[in-house]
Amino acid sequence: MFDKIRNWRIRRTVARHPIAEPLWRDALQRCAAARRLGASDQATLRVLATLFLESKSLEPTQGLQLDDADRVLLAAHACLPILKLGLDWYDGWHSVIVYPDAFVPRRPKIDAAGVVHETHTVMAGEAWGRGPVILSWAEVLTGGNKPGHNVVVHEMAHKLDMLNGDANGFPPLHRRMDRRVWSRVFSSAWDRLKEEQANGAELPIDPYALESPAEFFAVASEQFFEAPANLRQHLPDVYRQLELFYRQHPF
Ligand SMILES: [Zn+2]
Repeated sequence: MFDKIRNWRIRRTVARHPIAEPLWRDALQRCAAARRLGASDQATLRVLATLFLESKSLEPTQGLQLDDADRVLLAAHACLPILKLGLDWYDGWHSVIVYPDAFVPRRPKIDAAGVVHETHTVMAGEAWGRGPVILSWAEVLTGGNKPGHNVVVHEMAHKLDMLNGDANGFPPLHRRMDRRVWSRVFSSAWDRLKEEQANGAELPIDPYALESPAEFFAVASEQFFEAPANLRQHLPDVYRQLELFYRQHPF
């Protein structure tokens, strides 16, 4: 019954507020990972993007203006990871705050001794457990120019990771996936990359992946959608686990 109501709501939303054809074509033009999808997956992505724009609040800040084409582009990027999972995987949060450029979060951080520090790290994106996703629009636009980068996919991967608690590189796995295999694959890839890094070798993925297991998962997810051939070639086991998790086969 609930499913019927839900499906009906979805159909009504999509019927009332479809993304106009020119806007959708424009988004595909600007989103290489979406362009690579087959026609039926692109149609699904368009429905998800429509529902994403209905259910989330995009909040440009500091004078940034986002027109309809920009909003559709952002939604298309954001829905790539959940193409085969469904929008439910983004339940529990509402806002996407978009800064014009890289931003410095102005918030106090309290250390173990109870001392409050202001953090001054420049950020391209940020995701909070049940709070907003924060993005730099400049990074959204230029991320695609750097092979394997996609700040929107990165932050959405953190959101998926945090569905079962802290961001730790361990999102809720599907029933037929093996948690031990996931851990083994990611930790042995991690060890190998650390070793290569220590030897001064150039890494096949952004070294930022080695900041933490959470960043490894987010950076590998970016690669999975933006440079799948590269990820499959260099980290085939990680690629395979992400295939199982995202239920997609980008390469
Ligand atoms: Zn991150």
